[in-house]
Amino acid sequence: MEQLKQRIRTQGRILPNSVLKVDSFLNHQLDPGLLEAIGNAFASRFAKDRIDKVLTVEASGIPIALFTAKALGVNALFAKKFPSNKQFEHGYSALVTSYTKGTSHQIHVDSPFLLPGERILIVDDFLANGEAATGLIRLVQQAQAEVVGLGIVIEKGFQPGGQRLRQAGIRVESLAIIEAMDDQGITFAP
Ligand code: 5GP
Repeated sequence: MEQLKQRIRTQGRILPNSVLKVDSFLNHQLDPGLLEAIGNAFASRFAKDRIDKVLTVEASGIPIALFTAKALGVNALFAKKFPSNKQFEHGYSALVTSYTKGTSHQIHVDSPFLLPGERILIVDDFLANGEAATGLIRLVQQAQAEVVGLGIVIEKGFQPGGQRLRQAGIRVESLAIIEAMDDQGITFAP
């Protein structure tokens, strides 16, 4: 998605530990025009897949899920984050280690919102090691729903998450795949 790559090139900032900051349009300030285009791009890639619901994790996934769900004409659902030691009596939960913070937390959804047999599209802002995506996949599996695919806005292709998930048979659709990023700039996969 050229419009997205252009924004990453011009406004992305590379931080230590291979963290890309895109706070001007995706992770802090939000550009509704770009987010709408992102939602439309995911919706067209999964148009024939009879998606019932779009699932993400708070906070940065929410606008992506909302625009995607709007374009598909379905509901969006976001997993909430809780401390790693919280006990849940109902619903589905999974432990996730945060790439940017290095700490662990739980993600949780209430059972009425994720139903057996539902066809779920998972979306998120970044894919690095695949921790967040794997946690979301576990929630869908616990609910006996089906993961149709994973829509990622920015995949860091030099980190292992994408390869791991694809090898596990998950369909991963990324709108921009970064091959390398350093002082020289950002290189995208063709
Ligand atoms: P993973 O779970 O795949 O290791 O990392 C993905 C999650 O960590 C995303 O939900 C995102 O919030 C965060 N993340 C990973 N890498 C980056 C990055 O380079 N920049 C930003 N802003 N977030 C990232």
